[in-house]
Amino acid sequence: MEDLLTLPFFTDAQRSFARELDVNARQHDWPDPDAGDDAQALLDALKALGKVGVLKHAASEPWSMRTNVLAREVLAYHAGIADLAWAMQALGAVPLLIAGDDEQKRILPDAIAGKLCLGFAITEPDAGSDLSKLNLRAERVGDDYILRGEKHLVSNVGVADYFVLFARTSDERRGVSAFLLDTTLPGLSFEQQRPISPHPLGRIVCDNVKLPASALIGNEGDGMGIALGTLGRMRTTVAAAANGFARRALDECLKHAKRRQMFGKTLAEMPIAQGILAEMRARLDASRLLTYRAAYEFDGGKQRIPLQAGVAKWQSTENAQWIIDKALQLAGGVGALHGSIFERLYREIRPLRIYEGASEVQQLVIASEMLKE
Ligand SMILES: Cc1cc2nc3c(=O)[nH]c(=O)nc-3n(C[C@H](O)[C@H](O)[C@H](O)COP(=O)(O)OP(=O)(O)OC[C@H]3O[C@@H](n4cnc5c(N)ncnc54)[C@H](O)[C@@H]3O)c2cc1C
Repeated sequence: MEDLLTLPFFTDAQRSFARELDVNARQHDWPDPDAGDDAQALLDALKALGKVGVLKHAASEPWSMRTNVLAREVLAYHAGIADLAWAMQALGAVPLLIAGDDEQKRILPDAIAGKLCLGFAITEPDAGSDLSKLNLRAERVGDDYILRGEKHLVSNVGVADYFVLFARTSDERRGVSAFLLDTTLPGLSFEQQRPISPHPLGRIVCDNVKLPASALIGNEGDGMGIALGTLGRMRTTVAAAANGFARRALDECLKHAKRRQMFGKTLAEMPIAQGILAEMRARLDASRLLTYRAAYEFDGGKQRIPLQAGVAKWQSTENAQWIIDKALQLAGGVGALHGSIFERLYREIRPLRIYEGASEVQQLVIASEMLKE
């Protein structure tokens, strides 16, 4: 990662942080969620991140986008499960940083230590990209809220101690509120769903769950702002994760191409393979530069960077998918075997083009920002 790390986007402290995390992550024996117990793998990865101290950047202010972008690029390069553990702690913590009260923020030190696991629950069967369709209800009854309804496709189901959960508190379009949900409350049940790259994911069913009013984050009706503020911050880091997966694919592909003999030469000496390798590098550099630009502008005080974050997320995730596909192609049949690094990356990258705003949603955001200018 050195080539672009030395550019003026970063401070010396950020560069040292990335280098140290890279050494730590390279040496760590990360759990394999494909081995069968994805819940345990996630918790082990979380504990390891807590020990290294990297979660404080995800779950405390000031939130340095450049530091967090470097963290995700490095973690994704070494282990998808480590990147996921980082991302879910951030997704659970950022709503509290934006609007939580002191009592709610008391869980953050344990989250930073990796002792407590967080999650973010917004998607419902009838409300994904279109969040105006959210339908899980939170009805105020005396000092409590009663939750009824269902979430699905939620990461960390079965392992999270708390979710930030978004529920409808009025019929107005933006009548959505955010709650800190203790997952031990009666009336909650969880059902696993299995994603393409294994990690704990599933449904949350709320059957008259009684939540104290103190679980409300911010005020009633603040939920959409909190959700969009959180996703807006996370989007640039999703781009960074995609770049980490893609950079790993390119490194592994170069190693393979230099070793593999065919037609009296190495694969790396074949002109068509060289053309593909060159395009992989160009796409990766472009993605990383777009991501670093978004992070630099966020940290420079802009904070709201929908265009830069949208361009970074869209291009980085799409380019990463292309780069990983080409890497697998050049690896040949062994690349397509279950358990090869190329096959693993091929599965890891796929959901990033869908979650936290699908590529098509980013295109809409970019166009609408340009048209406003
Ligand atoms: C591995 C994984 C982990 C996830 N983790 C979480 C989590 O922790 N918490 C959580 O709440 N959710 C999570 N999700 C859910 C994710 O956020 C949703 O899948 C995503 O928002 C898309 O919603 P949807 O699946 O309902 O697709 P839909 O909204 O039905 O969209 C389907 C497709 O339509 C296209 N599309 C969407 N909008 C437009 C448009 N305006 N114009 C043209 N085409 C469009 C896109 O190609 C999109 O992929 C996760 C999903 C996956 C796959």
